[in-house]
Amino acid sequence: MTCPLITRRHWLFGACCAGLGIASSVAAETIGLDAIDTEPFPSNANEALVRLKNGNQRFRDDKPRHNHEKASWRSHLVETQNPFATIVGCSDSRVPPELIFDEGFGELFTIRLAGNIIAEDVIGSLEYAVSHLHTRLIVVLGHEGCGAVSATLEQMLDKAKEPEHIESLIKSIQPGLKTLDLKLSWDVLLHTAVEANVRWSMRQLRAHPELRALPEVKRALLEKRVILVGAVYELNTGRVRFLD
Ligand SMILES: [Zn+2]
Repeated sequence: MTCPLITRRHWLFGACCAGLGIASSVAAETIGLDAIDTEPFPSNANEALVRLKNGNQRFRDDKPRHNHEKASWRSHLVETQNPFATIVGCSDSRVPPELIFDEGFGELFTIRLAGNIIAEDVIGSLEYAVSHLHTRLIVVLGHEGCGAVSATLEQMLDKAKEPEHIESLIKSIQPGLKTLDLKLSWDVLLHTAVEANVRWSMRQLRAHPELRALPEVKRALLEKRVILVGAVYELNTGRVRFLD
């Protein structure tokens, strides 16, 4: 009698190898059954989003599985990678995407700059992710208590002046905060500004001429094969709140 678990694991093994574009005979030698995923590789953008949400729920529940960290799994990533999502996040040490989504090596393509800003090199990295790696989902991930957003607000309130290189971050963030009511209490203002900054980064991505000029990226976004979503990570709860 065939064990259902083994059958499922073999199916996943095949699906995984197909997704990676490598011969299963080669992978069989290098991966080993213990390294096989416990859920199917996302076949579309919505499945990728569900997978991130499930991973964040495990993280919040303090039940991360820390899958795909062992040497047996890493060995087959030497030649290739097949991340299912791209995260445009902040450099903040408290918001590491792989941990908060409970994902392993080779699963997330991450682009991190303070304030999750959209700089030219971010666009280049994103083009690579969509055109070459074919990631199905792009998440702009801000977080509560963001220092870069906070510094921008302080400057707008004439409370602080930052050194030149931090100024360049502030210049990137400030246009997205210009409609905020600066008379709000600080906590409410920062909370509102973090979300506004995520939406600002998303607007810049959608409007960026280089990204729009890429036929494959444009087509993939229009056909929703690739979707762009915004989210805010809550430091105190560990929850990733996806925006509407
Ligand atoms: Zn931040």
